[in-house]
Amino acid sequence: MDGIAGKEDDAMAIRLTDPVQTLPGIGPTRAKGLEKLGIATAGDLLWYFPKRYEDRRATFSIADAPVETAVCVPAMVAQRPVTSYIRQGLTVTKVRVVDDQGQMTLTFFNQTYVQSALKPGEEYIFFGKVEKDNGRVAMTNPVFEQKGRQRFTGRIMPVYPLTAGVSNNLIAGAVQRVLADCGRAVPERLPEGLRQERGLLPIGPALQYVHFPRTEGELEGARRRLVFEELYYFSLGLALMKTRRGMGQGAVCTGGQLEDYIATLPFPLTNAQRRALEEAAADMASGRAMNRLIQGDVGSGKTVVAAGCLYLAAKSGWQSALMAPTEILARQHYATLEPLLAQSGLRVGLLTGSMKAKEKRSVYEELELGLLDVVIGTHALLSEGVRFRRLGLVVTDEQHRFGVSQRAALAGKGGEGDFHPHVLVLSATPIPRTLALILYGDLEVSVMDELPPGRQSIDTFLISEDKRQRMYGFVRRQKAEGHQTYIVCPAVGDAAAPLQETELTPAQELKAVEAYAETLQKEVFPDLRIGLVHGKLSAKAKAAAMNAFASGETDVLVATTVIEVGVDVPNATLMVVENAERFGLSQLHQLRGRVGRGKEKSYCVLVSSNRSEETRKRLKALCSTNDGFKIAELDLELRGPGDFFGNRQHGLPQLRVADLAGDMRVLREAQEAAEALLAQDPDLQNPENRAILERVQELFAQNQDTLN
Ligand code: ADP
Ligand code: MG
Repeated sequence: MDGIAGKEDDAMAIRLTDPVQTLPGIGPTRAKGLEKLGIATAGDLLWYFPKRYEDRRATFSIADAPVETAVCVPAMVAQRPVTSYIRQGLTVTKVRVVDDQGQMTLTFFNQTYVQSALKPGEEYIFFGKVEKDNGRVAMTNPVFEQKGRQRFTGRIMPVYPLTAGVSNNLIAGAVQRVLADCGRAVPERLPEGLRQERGLLPIGPALQYVHFPRTEGELEGARRRLVFEELYYFSLGLALMKTRRGMGQGAVCTGGQLEDYIATLPFPLTNAQRRALEEAAADMASGRAMNRLIQGDVGSGKTVVAAGCLYLAAKSGWQSALMAPTEILARQHYATLEPLLAQSGLRVGLLTGSMKAKEKRSVYEELELGLLDVVIGTHALLSEGVRFRRLGLVVTDEQHRFGVSQRAALAGKGGEGDFHPHVLVLSATPIPRTLALILYGDLEVSVMDELPPGRQSIDTFLISEDKRQRMYGFVRRQKAEGHQTYIVCPAVGDAAAPLQETELTPAQELKAVEAYAETLQKEVFPDLRIGLVHGKLSAKAKAAAMNAFASGETDVLVATTVIEVGVDVPNATLMVVENAERFGLSQLHQLRGRVGRGKEKSYCVLVSSNRSEETRKRLKALCSTNDGFKIAELDLELRGPGDFFGNRQHGLPQLRVADLAGDMRVLREAQEAAEALLAQDPDLQNPENRAILERVQELFAQNQDTLN
């Protein structure tokens, strides 16, 4: 057993602020490893929480031990362990152990230290899965420790996230030592009154139980307390950011008549669109900087609402930027918004990474001189050269792809001092409300819960391989009726479920998409025109493929998820998704939203031969509803919030214990408590709330500028 055995009875008591190297068994190398995990001091260890637990309580004799579940088995080492060298890099150490009624063979791979660690005649507790074969009992790579000096067996064992050179026992042992020496010295960070009112554990026991719970009940109590604390400060910080930011001066946009803009549209607005637009317009006229999220299901018509804001800004003498996550989407927005806004006399430009340096330079110039009212683009808008003359509004589309920091970077091009451009965020992923609060806690939210009239729900079917020919027939029928089809194949990184042995490398996968498109063209649909678009194509080739599809030159577009967001080709009426099990529900809903955008009845066919109960349940859910919010809730429930946060830099403090899917109740409680406090002391300036304010500032250190 590796770890810190031997020195644990060191006499010197550890203090919370001591560097981890003060702990027995931790030298410079291990300290470096711990530092990588964000652990520098003894106190940090206490806040490094297990990611899960292993129940090592059940103890059995060799004869009674059940198979297939890991259990503890006390036994005596019967003979000296024997190590054989199988080949380079592989050793096998075997040892026989016995108890009153039975014997068992232990096998250790590449753990030669076992030879000296397990002493004949001594008793140990072995933890692992027992295998039984014809009366022979065995265990492979068990965890073990000496009987009577048990620390990691016979209990619920914490399992920590690890890094090279840092073992679980190292962390568990160190945490145990710190808890014993100074667990009681940890300062309480929740106000006493609040803690009691909410029936929460004091910090000492909470930390003890979160690392080493004796029962499920203790663990639950500890989590509740720690999650509450975390979400309480999180909510306070977000609320403060919101009020402080609200105090920033914004571009006053009172020029232009909304009705004039609406009159240029080819359709009347839905009530939801009108409401969202009016809310945004009120923000923009207020003199304070707007921070608004428009959340609307796919196809609810967010683009024209955003365009209304661009119009208001321009008519009041301000420039705007609209940032989209992909080049395809930026170009598409440009194609629809340029002619629309030109009717109102606005000058609209496009800026994307793939444009020639010369073209970019001329856009830079026009922006700086104020010759453009609106610029639509990709991340290229964040580049050094982009400067505005009078930036008053920043719109980011499909926000879930951008982080708070990027949004801020673009807004930062606006002006100086107390002035902030208005920020409008369009979110296509219908995010459950609670999650939206965390992700966008500093934003006001307009929900567009209505689709334009005449939209029909999209009929969705789940089929397996044996119906493939019928599906092809269906594609042909769309064509016969003058409509078009998307066929989406998963690309690398789309894996919702862990991939099996069949996993392809990016190159193989790309080949697979290309080969698939070719087969379709040659063997299945020789008479149809098949297009292909995927992430590895040049921007120009992508645009060409999209244009060909949009203008109806191609009948079928084979694509990877590059078309997931925003793409709008109303004549497409069928969406086929291959290997549908590889996608998350929300992602499938987004994909499905690429059809049903015109007046025609539209369909979505999910192809999956995956037989797992769970997968079929997920996919069937999609067949039964078109409500994006319901689907998002379900996705969150089934897969956790990882998808929403992903690897994104959202620029907010990291949540260490709270699980946003599971802890919604506590979130609500914490928010309530935070609101109650702020109702009494909106800026936390009251001396008795000093400690709370300091804690918030510490947590939101990255966002200092907005908190100070
Ligand atoms: P999303 O909210 O998914 O971004 P879009 O803004 O792309 O949706 O709009 C989807 C389609 O609906 C577009 O073709 C758009 O022109 C159309 N549309 C938007 N608003 C209306 C409306 N009020 N009536 C009819 N069609 C609309
Ligand atoms: Mg959109």
